[in-house]
Amino acid sequence: MNDAAAKYWWAAIARHQLLVQHCAGCDRYQHPPASTCRGCHAGARLEWQEHDGLAPVVSYTEVHSSTYPGFTVPYWLATLRIAEEAYLVSNLVDLRGRPHAGLLTRVRFIERGGRTIPVFAPVET
Ligand SMILES: [Zn+2]
Repeated sequence: MNDAAAKYWWAAIARHQLLVQHCAGCDRYQHPPASTCRGCHAGARLEWQEHDGLAPVVSYTEVHSSTYPGFTVPYWLATLRIAEEAYLVSNLVDLRGRPHAGLLTRVRFIERGGRTIPVFAPVET
């Protein structure tokens, strides 16, 4: 992750806002944030948009060994689609049973290891 873009993204997370970068040049979303668009390589056309926090699970794994502070194993880690070509890796919480591809989740902000992080919980249907 680019330092300045990553700092900006994490500062928004601390305010409980999920942001996603959008390129006005080629109409592409991207994550992780970067200083240039990975599609057209323009930097000046990148803008930040607030995400609605809804993200389907693309893939997942159960973590049985972790050194990440504040997490008790086992836990679920997932790749979530936050836009057409933008993916975020995060923790799944409050699952009833196993996750599955396509499970719709919503962002939630929690404090872990001294910082605010985004995690995702299933949307009640
Ligand atoms: Zn672009």
